[in-house]
Amino acid sequence: MSVAAPAITSTFFTPEHDALRVTIRAFIEKELQPYAEEWEAAGDFPDWVFEKLGGAGLLGLSYPEEYGGSGGDYISSLVLKEEMVRAGSGGVGMAVAVQTDMATPPVLKFGTEEQKQTWLVPAIKGTKIACLGITEPNAGSDVANIQTTAVRDGSDWVVNGRKIFITNGCRAHFCTLVARTDKPSGYHGFSLFLVPTDTPGWHVSRRLDKLGMRSSDTAEILMEDMRLPGDALLGEEGKGFYQIMWELQGERLVAAAGAVAGSQLLFERCLAYAKERHAFGQPIGKFQTMAHRLAEMATEIEAARALVYDAVWKFNAGEYPVKEISMCKLYTGVVGNRITNQAMQIFGGAAYLMDLPIQRAWRDSRLMRIGGGADEVMREILAKMRGL
Ligand SMILES: Cc1cc2nc3c(=O)[nH]c(=O)nc-3n(C[C@H](O)[C@H](O)[C@H](O)COP(=O)(O)OP(=O)(O)OC[C@H]3O[C@@H](n4cnc5c(N)ncnc54)[C@H](O)[C@@H]3O)c2cc1C
Repeated sequence: MSVAAPAITSTFFTPEHDALRVTIRAFIEKELQPYAEEWEAAGDFPDWVFEKLGGAGLLGLSYPEEYGGSGGDYISSLVLKEEMVRAGSGGVGMAVAVQTDMATPPVLKFGTEEQKQTWLVPAIKGTKIACLGITEPNAGSDVANIQTTAVRDGSDWVVNGRKIFITNGCRAHFCTLVARTDKPSGYHGFSLFLVPTDTPGWHVSRRLDKLGMRSSDTAEILMEDMRLPGDALLGEEGKGFYQIMWELQGERLVAAAGAVAGSQLLFERCLAYAKERHAFGQPIGKFQTMAHRLAEMATEIEAARALVYDAVWKFNAGEYPVKEISMCKLYTGVVGNRITNQAMQIFGGAAYLMDLPIQRAWRDSRLMRIGGGADEVMREILAKMRGL
């Protein structure tokens, strides 16, 4: 199903951003999109995707040039997030976002020069794949309940624990891991570590089967007496909880940007279908109920995009807009789910078939309201900000 590209206009995209978008779109449509169906069916995609994206300079658009990045602003990485939906495989987009916007930003922000050279530089090249290890069987929304421990032993750390739902976990070369380093210290009792996944004691105990994002791998990780050198600590000891809360802002924003871009693409498909599919002697889009449905979808997507662009603008300016990002994460997830649900209705029986990607968008989009901080967690943050 081929659909004309929607015009994305905004005051903050410069001609350079527009040119970047053209390049990225052409790259994705040539190098990734043709394989989407195959990867979705296989429930996996090959590691060369990272190398290819890295080779094209797309894994470090907003990272400094000294580490192999392009030195661009955050808006240039927004362009990548928006265009990644054209890969046609949500799992690939998610895996790449884990690499660019979740596991590696803490390395740049908190890492030593040596850690940046060892992990960030190859991650930007795409020769090393990263994962992010926060969630545990008993610590999802309740991050502070993390039970994985890292205990000092001489100059080393010995890590024991279990992580779950780890995207890229089956293929990653390293993990940005959060562990408990000091039990009584509450929020000050956590620290970040950079873990090479060939460290003895690191085991991928299970590859998890899932509803959507099927081409991405999702792992359960077991760490048994895993010994790390002292310099595996990322940033200051005891600051891990705050570092992860910082990381989650970028994670939520990239997810929100992807959700809006995915909704837009799906909307374009719905619009085209409503014009070409006939029933009772006319295009189904001519029925008022259908036309109004599409009008409402367009309005919701614009509103969601406005929220995202506002947060991106502030994030790019160096602000820490937790309120705006929480609203983006919440609203784009709800809207994204409504759009995919409406698309299922507009396409009728065809939507229910595996031949069309509508069912896939419906399945993939459901994650947005759960992963990286569920709707309820976003509402809780926003309520607390209002003294509730
Ligand atoms: C496909 C996929 C990929 C993922 N990738 C990663 C990854 O790469 N790295 C990683 O670390 N994690 C990852 N996650 C984990 C994800 O971030 C968590 O699933 C998410 O944070 C929710 O945690 P949970 O699943 O344990 O749900 P729970 O915390 O058990 O929540 C269950 C329900 O209870 C609600 N709830 C919880 N607390 C409250 C409250 N205080 N008030 C009201 N309602 C509440 C939740 O909102 C939710 O609806 C991934 C998850 C999935 C499904």
